[in-house]
Amino acid sequence: MPFYKYILVGGGMTAASAASGIREIDPDGSIAIFSAETNPPYDRPPLTKGLWSGKKQEEDVFRNLDELNVELHLEQPVERFEQSNQFIILTSGEEHGYDRLLLATGGRPRKLPFGKDDIQYYRTFNHYRTLREQAQPGKHIGVIGGSFIGSELAASLTANGAQVTMIFPENGIGGMTYPAGLSDFVTDYYREKGVEVLAGEMVDGVERRGDKKVIRTRSGRNVEVDTIVAGIGIEPNTAIASAAGLEVDNGIIVDRYLRTSQPDVYAAGDVASFYNPALKKRMRVEHEDNAKMMGRTAGRNMAGASDEYHYLPFFYSDLFDLGYEAVGELNPGYEVYSDWQEPFRKGVVYYLKDDRVRGVLLWNVWDQVDAARSLIEQDEPIRPEALKGRLPE
Ligand SMILES: Cc1cc2nc3c(=O)[nH]c(=O)nc-3n(C[C@H](O)[C@H](O)[C@H](O)COP(=O)(O)OP(=O)(O)OC[C@H]3O[C@@H](n4cnc5c(N)ncnc54)[C@H](O)[C@@H]3O)c2cc1C
Repeated sequence: MPFYKYILVGGGMTAASAASGIREIDPDGSIAIFSAETNPPYDRPPLTKGLWSGKKQEEDVFRNLDELNVELHLEQPVERFEQSNQFIILTSGEEHGYDRLLLATGGRPRKLPFGKDDIQYYRTFNHYRTLREQAQPGKHIGVIGGSFIGSELAASLTANGAQVTMIFPENGIGGMTYPAGLSDFVTDYYREKGVEVLAGEMVDGVERRGDKKVIRTRSGRNVEVDTIVAGIGIEPNTAIASAAGLEVDNGIIVDRYLRTSQPDVYAAGDVASFYNPALKKRMRVEHEDNAKMMGRTAGRNMAGASDEYHYLPFFYSDLFDLGYEAVGELNPGYEVYSDWQEPFRKGVVYYLKDDRVRGVLLWNVWDQVDAARSLIEQDEPIRPEALKGRLPE
């Protein structure tokens, strides 16, 4: 049976960063990545942004593994692994042995219980290519979902000349993240840019009408479109972890060194549930910064380091010419304090719970992520009014 010192399951940003992390400690140990995808590891954020705006070209999104001496096995999904004898089994039946295993299997799009192939679920480079071909100027695209993927795609499609209808159950765009006033502003902004926004609408069916598709909503609307694309969240790919008896609870449970409940098996990225000491809770983060930092830390630890993962990752989004960076929990159900320099255009929104800052939204405010993170890490009570003018530093 072929043997590798390190096997990384998954071909995303986490696995790529883990390979770099391993090489920081171990220049020679053999590394293999087994990925279900047809493409080598790439950055996903440009799939909804830079590739549409022209800031990125297709060749820019791929991660450079050239110097890392990694064996990349594409279209080789791992079916399961045997921890007792330390080998993986591919769906093809092939077996490969390891010393250390990383599960970086990420997530798969959550699907609606209808619509089958008439709805595209957006996650991969191949999904980008398909949608790009279909989204010719003038084509009508129905976007289901008003959160990260839905709002970014709607902006990019519109900016590229498509006619876009967004449909989602919240009262406004980003309603699960932004406070109500900001969400209303963004929703109006999208409408001004030409997006039809159907907020507060549940989609409850999809049907074909000739070469068009019709999205049916619970309130009785029928929206006829050329293409339907959905971004309604992801589910972590935990099946191989569960089958091997690893502890799983909304993600693969890892300790502070990113080890799972079995020796020599690590997990990181979108699939992993880790404890964050600043927020004093377990979390599973579906963002790029986490994929990179956690992947790197897991790689280093697999190769012998003992780095604790205490990092509070940041995330970001671009919506037409609005944009932000954010850290922590953006839960509009918390106490929210907004400190605008210019209402809804530039300012900082703080999310507080139990008199502590739990999340910071830096709306068109840049280079303040570290300062925002320190505020969250400060374990002292703070009144919202005391935050006025606190950031930018
Ligand atoms: C369109 C898009 C835009 C985004 N934009 C942003 C953004 O602006 N900002 C931000 O912070 N984050 C963004 N994200 C989130 C960010 O991309 C993810 O957090 C990151 O991709 C997670 O990386 P990962 O490697 O953990 O998981 P994934 O990217 O999901 O990769 C998992 C990999 O594992 C493979 N796999 C799964 N199961 C198996 C198996 N059994 N065997 C072999 N391979 C397997 C998958 O095929 C995939 O290659 C975006 C995500 C998407 C989809």
